[in-house]
Amino acid sequence: MRAAQLARSATLALRRPPDDLAGVTRRLVQEVLTPAAVAVDEAGTVPDDLRRRLADLGYFGLRIPERYGGSGLDLVPYLGVVRELARTNLAFQELTEENNGIGSAALVIAGSEEQRARWLGPMACGEAVGAFALTEPGAGADAAGITTRATPSGDGFLLNGTKHFITHGALADVVTVVARVGDAADRSAGVTLFLVTPDNPGFAVGRVQAMMGYRASHQAELRFDDAYVDRRDVVGQVGEGFTIAMQTLDTGRLTVAADCLGAGEELLDRTLAYAGERRTFGKRLVEHGQVREMLARSAMELLAVERALFALAARVDAGEPLRSGSAAVKLLASEVVGRVADRAMQVHGGLGYTVEAEIERFYRDVRVLRIAEGPSEVLRNSIARAEAASARSRRETLL
Ligand SMILES: Cc1cc2nc3c(=O)[nH]c(=O)nc-3n(C[C@H](O)[C@H](O)[C@H](O)COP(=O)(O)OP(=O)(O)OC[C@H]3O[C@@H](n4cnc5c(N)ncnc54)[C@H](O)[C@@H]3O)c2cc1C
Repeated sequence: MRAAQLARSATLALRRPPDDLAGVTRRLVQEVLTPAAVAVDEAGTVPDDLRRRLADLGYFGLRIPERYGGSGLDLVPYLGVVRELARTNLAFQELTEENNGIGSAALVIAGSEEQRARWLGPMACGEAVGAFALTEPGAGADAAGITTRATPSGDGFLLNGTKHFITHGALADVVTVVARVGDAADRSAGVTLFLVTPDNPGFAVGRVQAMMGYRASHQAELRFDDAYVDRRDVVGQVGEGFTIAMQTLDTGRLTVAADCLGAGEELLDRTLAYAGERRTFGKRLVEHGQVREMLARSAMELLAVERALFALAARVDAGEPLRSGSAAVKLLASEVVGRVADRAMQVHGGLGYTVEAEIERFYRDVRVLRIAEGPSEVLRNSIARAEAASARSRRETLL
């Protein structure tokens, strides 16, 4: 995006979100987004008019603070919006999520005033696209294993390395890149965040990586070959990057949980409707005990996700730090939606396996939620570690 365009968009003021934002979003989903969901998946892209509409309604800046042109929503109302958007095609939610979440979070947490003023306004308007680049071909779940290097040079750093699976990496106007400065023995020490723009001569977008789901939301490989980044584009302090990146992912995991909840609720609604009509062996499906059990389990598990997610979000909005709770809620939600999608397909029978019923699209889309932003196994490890540490400190307090 050209500098003049960015300067213009930064001055646009977003309208305040309506009081009943979740209700407004629900109507947008029913009247505009759901009718477009299949075409968007088939075309592999969100058309400009829908993107523009979401931007005009302020959906790209819901979590960006008001003083930078966003709505500065707390987590509870924001996750309510995510939940509604996730009932349609998850690519719509992903489109706005990068600017509200991992694409802007480091700037909101630790950016300088100059960095925030330069990027957050355009992101809030949907005029600039943000991305977050941590994962590398050699390091994903093991984030501290990254090998992208940042070597001091003049008034800045030279970046060398490769990232992959980066959502919106091919179209981003600014990428928050996680790279390592120095050779500290502690793997997270030295990790630093850098803002990189596509006009950087050492930066190149590699292949776009076709995925099983989220077909209208693209992931790309990014290459850095002596990409010079000025010191003013370091986010936070040198060596602070690992902490900021983990904070970014902690909130991101709650958004993933809201994605799981919305998609799961939509799948359950569709399954209930189908089971209420389809007849086999002289009965409606909903009258067969085994089908009722599947429906009841899905309803019960989704209720647990809803309660856990919004209870945690409310505590964070009240000022509690977000610790291992986000890993636990994301783990629960992503595993629940996997089971809900599987049951939805089972109850729909052969129809569920067809493209026209759209169950398979949700099934494909939600599968990645058990992998991205922390695979389930890695989240279990971190929850167990955090619980053990907390038990140790409780024991020490008692002694
Ligand atoms: C659609 C999509 C979008 C993405 N968007 C982004 C993005 O915008 N930015 C970004 O930086 N990354 C992004 N990613 C990357 C994503 O976060 C990683 O794929 C994820 O962290 C897992 O890393 P990996 O794929 O390298 O798997 P690996 O680290 O190779 O792990 C593979 C599997 O091994 C198992 N495993 C690994 N470690 C352990 C352990 N300690 N104990 C037990 N089992 C273990 C798990 O089952 C895991 O799934 C995206 C990925 C996808 C698919």
